[in-house]
Amino acid sequence: MNLPEHTGYSDMRLGFSTGAVAKGDVEQGLALIRESSADAVEVSALRDTELPALIDKLPRLDFTGFDYLALHAPSAFASLSERSVLTYLDKAAERGWPIVIHPDAIKDWKGWRSFGELLAVENMDRRKACGRTPEELECVFEKLPEAGLCFDIGHARQLDPSMTLAERIWEEFNGRIRHFHVSHVDAEGRHRALDRECLKAFAPLLQQVRPDVPLILESIVPPECIESELTQLREMLRPFALSFTEGVSPKGANTSSS
Ligand SMILES: [Zn+2]
Repeated sequence: MNLPEHTGYSDMRLGFSTGAVAKGDVEQGLALIRESSADAVEVSALRDTELPALIDKLPRLDFTGFDYLALHAPSAFASLSERSVLTYLDKAAERGWPIVIHPDAIKDWKGWRSFGELLAVENMDRRKACGRTPEELECVFEKLPEAGLCFDIGHARQLDPSMTLAERIWEEFNGRIRHFHVSHVDAEGRHRALDRECLKAFAPLLQQVRPDVPLILESIVPPECIESELTQLREMLRPFALSFTEGVSPKGANTSSS
């Protein structure tokens, strides 16, 4: 098989969510993402019915070719108790995988605190009543002081297309960001393919991200569009990708972001 060559434009770690390319089918998702130039994968168990089978087959899944793996925890607990979700997720934590969680799913804060720095709490879109703004996220991190932030830049743009909210989250939590979700989030909260407008909106901020922080695409796209999503993102990250930043002066662009 001919793997697409890395373009060399960027050292950023780019990846895809299995749930975006093969809903509910992790094996298929991994196979499709492996054929692309992605180095990172977020294994998705967004519905709690998917979690037991996923954890059971973890030792048999093929993760070769990826240098970063994370697991997206279920977004709600319906068929499983929160306690059993935590027990299943221990198996991912034992592998050192970061665990992405939506803050509105959490009731047992102490249980989630046990994942320490491996936990990455995601900022929410406008359908949710918490975890959307810096103030709401601050309340979450008071209860989970070691947790990182999974910054869904598409969620922040859905709430505020001017990107002021995204800039505020970035400024306040930059040091906590361990993981990004990137896609075009539409008014209904669906994760769409990247378009020129959202790339332009994301560019000033994403061009400042440290190379060790993975950017995970959540665009729901057919297999033949996986590589083009990665290419568009990589092009946008290219230093001095002026077509994306003309007229915009990224905050802190002339300072070290370490
Ligand atoms: Zn999520």
